[in-house]
Amino acid sequence: MTLVRTGQQINPPVTTPEADVLFRTAADYLKPEDVTQLESAYQFSNSAHHGQFRLTGDPYISHPVAVSQILLQWRLDAQALTAALLHDVMEDTSVTKEEIEDKYGKTVAELVDGVSKLDKFQFESQEHEQAENFRKMLLAMGRDVRVILIKLADRLHNMRTLNAMQPHKRARIARETMEIYAPIANRLGLNILYQELQDLSLQHLYPNRYKVLMKALTRARGNRREVVGKILEAIRKTLRDHNIDAVVTGREKTLYSIYKKMIEKTLSFAEVYDIYGFRVIVNDVPSCYLALGALHQLYNPIPGKFKDYIAIPKDNGYRSLHTTLFGPFSTPIEVQIRTEEMHQIAEAGVASHWMYKESGSSLSDLQTKTHQWMQSLLEMHSQSGNATEFLEHLKVDLFPDEVYVFTPKGQIMSMPHGATCVDFAYAVHTDIGNRCVAAKVNHELVPLRTELRSGDRVEIVTAAHAKPNPAWLNFVVTSKARSRIRHVMKTMQYEESAKLGERLLAQALVALKSAPDEISDEQWAQLLKSSGEKSREELLADLGLGKQLAVVVARRLLSVGDQDGGTRQPGSLVIHGSEGMALQFAKCCHPIPGDPIVGYLRKGHGLVIHTHDCPVARRSRADPDKWMDVEWAPDSKKMFTVSLRVLASEGRGVLAKIAAEIAKTESNIETVSLEPFDSSAYAEINFTVLVANRLHLAKVMRGLRSVPEVVRVIRLKS
Ligand code: MN
Repeated sequence: MTLVRTGQQINPPVTTPEADVLFRTAADYLKPEDVTQLESAYQFSNSAHHGQFRLTGDPYISHPVAVSQILLQWRLDAQALTAALLHDVMEDTSVTKEEIEDKYGKTVAELVDGVSKLDKFQFESQEHEQAENFRKMLLAMGRDVRVILIKLADRLHNMRTLNAMQPHKRARIARETMEIYAPIANRLGLNILYQELQDLSLQHLYPNRYKVLMKALTRARGNRREVVGKILEAIRKTLRDHNIDAVVTGREKTLYSIYKKMIEKTLSFAEVYDIYGFRVIVNDVPSCYLALGALHQLYNPIPGKFKDYIAIPKDNGYRSLHTTLFGPFSTPIEVQIRTEEMHQIAEAGVASHWMYKESGSSLSDLQTKTHQWMQSLLEMHSQSGNATEFLEHLKVDLFPDEVYVFTPKGQIMSMPHGATCVDFAYAVHTDIGNRCVAAKVNHELVPLRTELRSGDRVEIVTAAHAKPNPAWLNFVVTSKARSRIRHVMKTMQYEESAKLGERLLAQALVALKSAPDEISDEQWAQLLKSSGEKSREELLADLGLGKQLAVVVARRLLSVGDQDGGTRQPGSLVIHGSEGMALQFAKCCHPIPGDPIVGYLRKGHGLVIHTHDCPVARRSRADPDKWMDVEWAPDSKKMFTVSLRVLASEGRGVLAKIAAEIAKTESNIETVSLEPFDSSAYAEINFTVLVANRLHLAKVMRGLRSVPEVVRVIRLKS
């Protein structure tokens, strides 16, 4: 709650009567050294808040003392009570987390820090879904359930003292309480707290309705006191007669529950209120059913009103038998029958473990207790075979796999644990992800790979022409970010290939004395139709990736035009030997300039050049569509591989002589293999050598024949 500073200098009293009550009550179940720690925390908090006052006019310390007092009712441990006394010092004074850790240990410091963080969030949105996310975020942030309990106690005390606030602020806080904190209390089974938060919220949201209802309730209460007393006596007597040990009490409906029933079922106050509520607490489960039987003998049950929440517990673990009876004076009587243990859980839910812990048990880890509580719920649910959706929710809440972060506009986004700024960017919008260049978390620039934490406010900086970075794939965790980044990567590669292909094609067209803008759309359409490509883009990408040869495509485009116009005489495709990966020389026949050649278009490999008389090529001549005329460029500077077989007589240094001869003709030997004839005087030597063309080859072969030992030289074609 907002505080007021005054100029007055008042020396803080050593303790207040409220604080004394707190210490005395705590001493009932805490060890003396724990009570000493509470006293110390009180003094520390008191001097930290010194000079601060609440809007009620009370010294500020009254608030943390009251919050601790609420927690004391649940018999929370010393750490939680200490943290409650200190819960506002980090927020409102200059005390740091380190200081608290030094004085009271790590756990207390974490608890205070957790509560302080929750204090920073205000719920603004009216949307139902946002409210649910907000609740989840608060629960996720308070990993230690004690943080939530302190926060709820804090909210309860602030609601109890809300009158000191401005009316418009009251309404906002009351609405937040109704939509966020009361449901959290309900989810954790903190029923008493839940009901009080609802009543207080109603009081400040609809002050007039509340006043009217309150008046009606006060009046009605007096009238029915006598009736209640008579029914109580009758019930007690019946149970005694049946030898059932029980505590029976009259039960008041809360103002909010009356209000809600009136609204939901459009009933008058009298119709809702004219129902008497009683609670019967017995020793064990069989006694519950015995008591039920006894009461059904006392007064007739109203058909269809009996509910067995022992066999089928409510989602938050609530168990009881409910029945409605025709009472005297024809008034309906609602009765709840339960054991003491069921009663504890019904009242305090998750907190019931501290309230009713067995004597001597140590105040162990809170998570264990929370876990036990959930475990007990699970057991109940599995016994009854009931759906466990609620438990799934609760598990998410208390052991979250998700983090909850804010957009700059205050929307809450839920992200999986480990999500980074880039994941967030893609979660907001694909465009934001694709264009993100930087991120701010809580107004500070951070690396894009930064992991997000619950409560972070995340802002993504984008740039119009930015593109995703493949390195992001190393750290994103959401499948959306991953698939979007991959998609863009693929598209980018495709686009770049298409651009390269376009250039290659333009080059090829210019070499054929044409130009890209001379190609009509009809020519393109015909080419695509005959080649089976889906689009011009795709064909260009194929060119860029070397899957097809630009010159081939260019020639085909031009020949398509020729058929239409008949003006251009397309020449053969000119081979330079330097076309790159999309053009290969056949390994079978090793064509060299001067050889008559043909081109074979092999899908996915580009163009393969064979010699005209190559037997391998001849075999696949059947498919004329795949063959094209090619011719050698006259001025090729490239050297080509050719295979030679030399038969030579054995003799000293024959190989050296042959090698020297080849070198003399300015050729190079690529490989040599020697196969001596069995026991004969001759050897067969296979060379692959590099030559410029047929003339060059002839010179090489002449030179070889000039070696005396060489008997025969032949060129190998497959
Ligand atoms: Mn507070």
